Amino acid sequence: MTTKLRIANTPGDGIGPEIMNACLRIFDAAGAMDQIEFVDARMGEAVFAEGNSMGISQQGRDAVEACGLLYKGPMGTPIGGGGKSINVTLRKMYGAFANIRHFRTLPGVETVYSKAGIPIDFYVIRENIEDTYGGIEHRLTNDVIECKRLISAPGCDQVHRAAFDLAKKIGIKMVYCGHKANIMKMTDGLFLDRFKRMASEYAGIETGDVIIDALCMNLVIRPQNYKMVVLPNLQGDIVSDLAAGLVGGLGFAPSANIGHHISIFEAVHGTAPDIAGKGIANPTSLLLSGLMLLRHIGLTNAAGVIENALIATLESGAHTGDFGTGDTPALNTQDYASAIIGNLGKKPSSIEPVAEPEGKTITFVKPAPPTSNELMRTFEQIKSVNTGCDIYLDTLLNPAELAEALSAICAPTPFKLTMMSNRGTQVWPNGTPYTNIVDYYRARFELRDMANASSMGQGPTISLLDRIAEKFGVTDFQPLKHYDGKPGYSLAQGQ
Ligand code: NAD
Repeated sequence: MTTKLRIANTPGDGIGPEIMNACLRIFDAAGAMDQIEFVDARMGEAVFAEGNSMGISQQGRDAVEACGLLYKGPMGTPIGGGGKSINVTLRKMYGAFANIRHFRTLPGVETVYSKAGIPIDFYVIRENIEDTYGGIEHRLTNDVIECKRLISAPGCDQVHRAAFDLAKKIGIKMVYCGHKANIMKMTDGLFLDRFKRMASEYAGIETGDVIIDALCMNLVIRPQNYKMVVLPNLQGDIVSDLAAGLVGGLGFAPSANIGHHISIFEAVHGTAPDIAGKGIANPTSLLLSGLMLLRHIGLTNAAGVIENALIATLESGAHTGDFGTGDTPALNTQDYASAIIGNLGKKPSSIEPVAEPEGKTITFVKPAPPTSNELMRTFEQIKSVNTGCDIYLDTLLNPAELAEALSAICAPTPFKLTMMSNRGTQVWPNGTPYTNIVDYYRARFELRDMANASSMGQGPTISLLDRIAEKFGVTDFQPLKHYDGKPGYSLAQGQ
């Protein structure tokens, strides 16, 4: 008897157990269960209810870490309190850095595009760890809250490589990078720059870049023009749902979160509490995510056979209550699954069948577990020098009053006040009374003599901070540095 590949499994909350059960029945009928074994991993609302603020039991963590793969249903996030989304926690904790979603027109899933005969078939690859999803938020003043947006070069490289590798594997010839580098020149600029560098390693794949707002419009007007788009986390999140809408909703959008050690395959919709327990939920998204899992581990034949059976079922007009034309009565979850099982071996007639490659054996090899946190580095040889600092203040003074006070404080130091901004817009030395301001300023202090930069450590800026903190409420401190002679900070709007 061959050993089966163990895969951690969490049915999830709400409709999760109903749709997971349907998917596992289909896997079983297609013979996939002869080679895989699902291991229960406890997480979700019940674990939150036990007072576990992460929502993931130790047993669940052990199972995921032992298997390196997790097939999961949707899980609820408690509203209010400190409980965070388990989905986001899992992706970040286990370094599942690339979120891969495939959006395609499916027969029987009527959309404005399907009615117009416009075929849609493209992938969104979303960076899964960084960006505002760091969840680093602070209240800075009475009126201002900040969310830090972190983009790292190694983080960009991970997701770009995953995108190009997938494009190469499945024969996509054109990959776009979506971004907002015209506004966020440094963060999105880095994401775009790393994309361009990575592209040079993949001969034969053409690339382009598109500003996120234009991308959204283009996707609505001509979705058929895109095959793959790679995006930072938040933009990718929004575009993924927009893309799901193009093909009929979240019920048809599969999702894989790929990491070096642990990969997670999940439906993108939520727990649908309004229909939970009624047995009427649509299992298609979870099934398609399961097919990504089967392909990931090498069972490409079973994945192709099931996908063709699913499409043949949709062609027959079978549907759950959330979609379909209404010409035929809606099936419940289990009857819908049975219809797919009944069509195993059939090929779609209205569209090209998907490939049913030879892959009938497991090729997945679980990577050795990490023994310590891997420090990822991209730029190792860069020389940086301190040139000053931005100090953020909680004050109700007007710009001229504040500038006068700060200039006096820094007069005996090596620094001069060079700029002040409010909500990112310069208000001093150049400014206009038309600019509305709030109780939160950035004051930029730079060395009077930049020749001293190379010999200056951080001590003088900390002394300056001390002096300012004697008179003002300081809310944040940001060292200013030049990296290989180039400023490592942006200018203010209007500067
Ligand atoms: P939801 O996706 O659960 O439901 C939105 C609407 O879509 C509802 O009307 C629901 O009935 C319908 N729907 C969703 N999936 C369906 C399916 N498979 N078949 C038929 N209809 C379906 O979104 P929500 O109501 O905003 O969130 C409910 C809970 O799910 C929240 O706790 C949220 O945090 C969680 N959630 C989890 C995930 C995840 O686990 N990946 C994703 C999104 C939301």
